[in-house]
Amino acid sequence: MKLLAPFTEADAPRWLLSFDFDGTLVVAEEDPAVCADFFELMRSMRSDHRSCWGINTGRSLMQTVQGLVDARFPILPDYIIAREREIYLPNEFGRWVGNAQWNKQCEREHHKLFRQCRKVLKHLKQWVETETAAVWGIQKEEPAGIVASTAAEMDLIVDKIDDTIEAETALSYQRNGIYLRFSHKHYHKGTAMLEVARLMGLSSQHAFAVGDSHNDLDMLNPEMAEMLACPANACPEVKLQVESAGGYVAKGHASRGVVEALGAHFANKK
Ligand SMILES: [Mg+2]
Repeated sequence: MKLLAPFTEADAPRWLLSFDFDGTLVVAEEDPAVCADFFELMRSMRSDHRSCWGINTGRSLMQTVQGLVDARFPILPDYIIAREREIYLPNEFGRWVGNAQWNKQCEREHHKLFRQCRKVLKHLKQWVETETAAVWGIQKEEPAGIVASTAAEMDLIVDKIDDTIEAETALSYQRNGIYLRFSHKHYHKGTAMLEVARLMGLSSQHAFAVGDSHNDLDMLNPEMAEMLACPANACPEVKLQVESAGGYVAKGHASRGVVEALGAHFANKK
C-alpha cells in the first residue's frame, strides 16, 4: 500500500473526505470489496482538488488496518479514525501513529465518564444480562459495550438505554447493527473528523462525509461537514437525515454510491 503524494506547506490540502468503512466503502463478501473506480478517483481528486481522504470507522485500528489489507487497498488513507473517536495519522513509513493530544484527552474523558456513570452502566448490564440474549462485552480497552443476537434485539436495548441514561450526563453510545459502544457525547465520528480537519488547516466547510449506519449519524450533520452523502444500502434513519440536510442519497450500492456522491458534490468545485 502506498501513500499518495504528501501534502506540503505550499501545497496544503483543500478538502477533507471522510469515509465509513463497512457497508459504505467496503463489502467484504463481494469481489472486489471496493470498486476500482474509487481508488482512481482518490488519485485524481488528490491531483485536481488536493483532497485528503480517510477511513472513519467503528473498527479498532488493528481491525481497520487488517480490513485495508483484506479489501486489497492499493493506496493508504491519509488518516484513520478508529472506534468512532481515536485519530491516527501515518508516519513517513506508512506506520499509524495516534494523535497523542486528542487520543489521550479522549481516553481520560471516557475513564472519568464511565466512573461517574458506573451505577447506570451496572443497572443496564444487569438488565441486558437478564432480559436479553445479548452479551455485555468487557475487554480491557472496551469497558462498556454490547453485542446483541439480532438487530431487532438491539432496537429493544437501545430503547431501554434511551429511557435510562439521564439527559444531563455526557453518556452516549454508538450503535452499528448488532454492536453498541458506550461513549462520551463529545467524542464521535463527527468531532473526530473536525479535529482531523483542524489539524489539516481545514473546517467543516471543506469536509465531505459518507456513511450507511447509525454510528455515522454524528458525522452526517451539516455542522460537521458541508457535503453529506450515503450509499443506496444505508439504513432508513441515515437516508432520512442525509436527505433532510440536503445531502446526496446515492443510487449506487456501497463504493459505487460513494463514487457517485463524490461526482455529484465535486462537479462544480475547483
Ligand atoms: Mg458502516
